[in-house]
Amino acid sequence: MSAQILSGKEVASAVRAEVATRVAALKERGRTVGLATVMVGEDPASEVYVRSKHRAAERAGMLSFDYHLPADAAQEQVETRVRKLNSDDRVDAMIVQLPLPTGLDGNQAVAAIDPAKDADGLHPYNLGLLAMERGHLRPATPSGIMRMLDYYDIATTGKLAVIIGRSFLVGKPMALLLGAKGVDATVVQAHSRTRDLFDLARRADILVAAIGRPRFINGDHIKPGAVVIDVGINRTDDGLVGDVDFASAIEVASAITPVPGGVGLMTVASLLANTVTAAEHAAG
Ligand code: NAP
Repeated sequence: MSAQILSGKEVASAVRAEVATRVAALKERGRTVGLATVMVGEDPASEVYVRSKHRAAERAGMLSFDYHLPADAAQEQVETRVRKLNSDDRVDAMIVQLPLPTGLDGNQAVAAIDPAKDADGLHPYNLGLLAMERGHLRPATPSGIMRMLDYYDIATTGKLAVIIGRSFLVGKPMALLLGAKGVDATVVQAHSRTRDLFDLARRADILVAAIGRPRFINGDHIKPGAVVIDVGINRTDDGLVGDVDFASAIEVASAITPVPGGVGLMTVASLLANTVTAAEHAAG
């Protein structure tokens, strides 16, 4: 058996087209959608991500504003920049590119964002609404994954979803979204202290790997016919690889996301979707 490839390229392109239509509709009402990024320091991976976010925003017809602070910026400088953007009418939504350099508190910087302008959906208020199954700005990576499952008509009701990873960026919100009413998966959240992790993984109908360890999961850890979502992005001598060993997993799973070309593209698309949603709400 060879699994169906869940193409982030295909789904993200559908999302981007929808976003561009919504951006154009707002423009007709005299409102140009704006996305701002705040980056601190010179992390090369973050620079690549930020560039791709600006490119994607501009292609969708948005204005994009790039604020780059030096690596030795103080916490207060970062938060001051965020607060200025909170009151900048050209900016509908913003992201603080994480991680911040050592010594700075990324969570606190995100908490300084006006929740109504939270493009990544990571503000504590928006995460709280998510836990209550309310709100409209959802964490970009997990909501991108939900969009992929929907696009490919992957059934979730009553399925056992095992999520490996419990970060507030991916694992935790993923668990909330998969377990929400209407999605109705039965969710198990695993982490580094989980016992018999691979036995658990082998029981999953939907396996989400958000670990940050190259090829940690392989075909032996996957139930035949499972849907495998690989969130990991790991830089290795072989280039970018996921948390799943694609070559062995594809022989066992029924569907799998590739790395690159999978979840990563959905994250950027969801960020744009959140930005236009924020603009629509602001426009009333
Ligand atoms: P993170 O904050 O480092 O969290 C990693 C999680 O994996 C933690 O909950 C950790 O458990 C768990 N873990 C680590 N080693 C483990 C082990 N041996 N067994 C079981 N669980 C283990 O990372 P993250 O921000 O969630 O990101 C995870 C991966 O996704 C990274 O590769 C990151 O680059 C990638 N990512 C991709 C996208 C995208 O757009 N595709 C977006 C965000 C992140 P503990 O909590 O017990 O430490």
